[in-house]
Parts: sequence; structure tokens; C-alpha cells
Amino acid sequence: MRLVRFSLDPSTPATTPDVSPLVRYGVVENETVYETAAGWSARTGESWPLSRVRLLPPCWPSKIVCVGRNYEEHAKELGNLAPAEPVIFLKPPSALAAHGDPIVVPPLAQRVDYEGEIGVVIGRRARNVPVERAQAYILGYTCVNDVTARDLQKKDVQWTRAKGFDTFCPVGPWIVPVAEVSLETLRLRTRVDGEVRQQASPDEMIFSVARIIAFVSEVMTLEPGDLIATGTPAGVGPLAPGALVQIEIEGVGVLENRVTTG
Ligand code: ZN
Repeated sequence: MRLVRFSLDPSTPATTPDVSPLVRYGVVENETVYETAAGWSARTGESWPLSRVRLLPPCWPSKIVCVGRNYEEHAKELGNLAPAEPVIFLKPPSALAAHGDPIVVPPLAQRVDYEGEIGVVIGRRARNVPVERAQAYILGYTCVNDVTARDLQKKDVQWTRAKGFDTFCPVGPWIVPVAEVSLETLRLRTRVDGEVRQQASPDEMIFSVARIIAFVSEVMTLEPGDLIATGTPAGVGPLAPGALVQIEIEGVGVLENRVTTG
């Protein structure tokens, strides 16, 4: 099963909040979207071909929590040591972009990189969750591109600017529920114009998904729909205008976005 948020109006912005009457929820089966109530509970009886709907980011997060340097080889490639505990930062929900939306390179940035990551969507409120129980708080998995203005990240102490531009958080195309995949099989692959640039499996993470949820929930309450980007593996690199970037997670899907200039 694949969980989506969508609109029937193709011009609906990716950042349209759940309170908007344009935002609908649904499940995808055999290229058909079956509408459900919000939160993917009961089906409404309405359905549309997948190709006819405007997909939105599959969750509406109150916050997007990202983990930096969670793969040893990636920490090294940027000249950093593997951290002793998770390094976390936030991206604003205003950075959300949907599957198929452009990634807009802002005039302020000289170098904009892709960062393919496994996205974890929270399913219920989580506060001080122990590692052993963390799995129960996951709704499912999705693909995330933690787009980063690398030059600004190096220049600034805080990464808010480098990570926070509009369209710098493509997410989707959908969520696969936690019960339907096992985390160990979620192989991540990033392609730019068809060429593989990043490849990793979750067992290469320095801090496991369960450990990350425990760590973050000790700091801030996680709400249903919150998104955790679990870090990027080695192989990051710049995106030129016109490039097509695909973040694939085996068993989940492929998130595809093209780069444009603002
Ligand atoms: Zn990242």
C-alpha cells in the first residue's frame, strides 16, 4: 500500500497545509488513487487515475528533523569525523517540494548539492521514547532529498540558510507503511541524469532509525506527520540547472525532481 496526499487542482502548491480544502488523502493501488479520510482511515468511495492527480508531499510535518553525518564515508568526504552522538538540525516546512516539482537554485547560492536520504514519517506523538519501542512510532518510509547550498553551509555556523531555501526539501512520492517493508531492505540510490551517485543500505548508518527517534524525542515532542531525514551516504555532489535528480528507495519508490534557476 502507498499512502499519498494529493489535490485535484494541478496548481496546488506543495506547501499547502492540511487545513486547506484542496488537500486530500488517498491510497494508491494499481495506478489508481482511492480517496480516504485524512490520516488514511476509511475510504470515501471516490477514486482517480494516479496520472490525473497532483501529488503533494505525503506528510504535513510540523517540523522536519534532519540528521547530519550519519554515514561514516559521507562524514569523511566533507572532512568531518564521525560524530559521537547524532547531529540534528531542522528544515522549515516551507522548504517542502512534491514529487515532480522543480528544485529552484537561489541566486544566493553558488553550489547546490543533492543529498538522498531515507525519510521516516512519525505516526503518533512521541516523547522520550526508548530505543526498544521506537519502531511503534513510525508510520512509514518515504524518499527525501535534503538539498543543500554547500557554499553557504561552509560559510555559516548554523545550517539554517544552507538547508532552508524554498524547494530544498523534496519528499515523496508516497509513504510505504512500516508494516509492509522491513527497514534492512531499504536500499537507497541517488541518480543524477540517470547516473548513480549514491548507494547505501540502512545498516551503514552510524545511528539507527530507532536510536534517532529516541534521541530526537528526548529533545522535542514528535507529532504525527513529522518527518525525519536520516542522513545521506557518501557521493554528494552539485546539481546543475536542468539536471534530473532521482532518489530511489528499493521497496518504497522513486522521488524525481528537476533543477531550475530562480
Ligand atoms: Zn542531509
